[in-house]
Amino acid sequence: MISPFLIDMAYIVAAVLFVFGLKMLSKADTARRGNQISALGMLIALVATLLYGGLDYTYILAGLVIGGGVGLIGAKTVAMTGMPEMVALFNGTGGVASLLVGWAEFHQSSTDIAAGTLTAFSSFTLFSIFLASVIGGLTFTGSVVAWGKLSGKLPGRPLLFPGQQIFNVLLLAGVLAAGIAFSLVGDAADPLMMAKYDLYLVIVVIGLILGVLAVIGIGGADMPVVIALLNSYSGLAACATGFIIVNKVLIVSGALVGASGLILTGIMCKAMNRSLANVLFSGFGSTSSGAGKKNEGEARVITAEDAYLVLEAAGSVVFVPGYGMAVAQAQHAVRELGDMLEENGCEVKYAIHPVAGRMPGHMNVLLAEANVPYEQLVEPDDVNPIIETVDVCMVIGANDVVNPAAREDEDSPIYGMPIIDADLARTTFVLKRSLGAGYAGIGNPLFFRDNTRMLLGDAKDSVSTLVAEFKQD
Ligand code: NDP
Repeated sequence: MISPFLIDMAYIVAAVLFVFGLKMLSKADTARRGNQISALGMLIALVATLLYGGLDYTYILAGLVIGGGVGLIGAKTVAMTGMPEMVALFNGTGGVASLLVGWAEFHQSSTDIAAGTLTAFSSFTLFSIFLASVIGGLTFTGSVVAWGKLSGKLPGRPLLFPGQQIFNVLLLAGVLAAGIAFSLVGDAADPLMMAKYDLYLVIVVIGLILGVLAVIGIGGADMPVVIALLNSYSGLAACATGFIIVNKVLIVSGALVGASGLILTGIMCKAMNRSLANVLFSGFGSTSSGAGKKNEGEARVITAEDAYLVLEAAGSVVFVPGYGMAVAQAQHAVRELGDMLEENGCEVKYAIHPVAGRMPGHMNVLLAEANVPYEQLVEPDDVNPIIETVDVCMVIGANDVVNPAAREDEDSPIYGMPIIDADLARTTFVLKRSLGAGYAGIGNPLFFRDNTRMLLGDAKDSVSTLVAEFKQD
């Protein structure tokens, strides 16, 4: 078998590749390469780990085949709209893996102490076992609840009971106290040794309950933020596991996942102009329906044929994609329309709101899949200052991210959320199936503005009809 020094060297190389890979993920044009570099780092870490002496390869092989098989089938079959659910489940499995490693290590050491082959636990190891088990456990159950809410298996609305927050805080304080008691050193002569095992089981159960209670009170549509946070927790649990089994690369990769998940959570909260505390504790979505000013006026519905005539004469068009584009899978048709507009001498841009869709980067991924050039993607800060000069703003299955109530209506639950000012373009087309609300469950005054035309129907059908009109021309 390979020497520990070489294994450590391989781990350092893997850790460096992780860091560079992560850095490259922050830019669209280097992201693909960054992913490959991180994957190479993981391969090196895996091979180095497998070269450790004294491993039982039967279980490792069985785990690889079952886990790899499930992962492969999941990745191949999941629809783009189902990605957040899948990520939730994957986070959950990461959490439960840390819990099980912590449990196995604790069980093994307890057995060794009872048999006299180990003299005592170290407090540091016990505290790491405690952290891996609690964080891993709550990540697991929290992720399962998040998956249930996103997939519609559980009610999407926040499930709140009186005193829930206080109960959660008490549970958290209780489990921390139990963790400190658990981490006190125990040896074979310790009369409390047996109680330590019972205490551990109590800690595991509280961790599992905490995950359910923490997530059940959060609305279904806030789940992507929760998933980013749970992703961070799964990294922290893995990091703690690394300390238990003294594996350097697990410590480093766990810390990287923990930190990047937290940063992503912060970015998403900022884009919604909400604090993390608001997302976690406000029960957003339980009472918001219908809040804010009533919408006045009548929506003007337009046919695809009439919309084509306006587009044909437009000198500049900005597409604003949203969740409905993902549902309709309209991205290829939208790209085709964009190409035809450009051929017609029109300047085309795609304005991406950071929280459009149901997961971070949702729209970027869809448009990249349809080969929309990155140069055409712009952010709200780039497009809002020039929006009044845009001939047509085409809102494709987006709703909350273009809701002017966020700018104008102080009573609106989304007041203060940065939006794309689609209502200020010369003409705005809104492509959706009805005048119904989006994720926040509130009406959208944009639909009733004088310069807005509603092109009702499935976004892919509507855009395909427009493409067909251009082709006929
Ligand atoms: P919204 O959920 O606000 O609106 C989507 C719209 O798409 C709906 O109003 C729906 O209207 C329409 N739609 C659905 N299916 C179709 C279809 N087949 N064809 C045409 N239209 C369709 O989405 P946005 O992207 O505007 O906003 C995202 C929301 O999610 C924001 O409020 C954001 O804060 C929230 N969020 C996003 C996160 C993220 O990571 N991206 C994380 C957490 C929250 P209709 O039914 O009438 O067709």
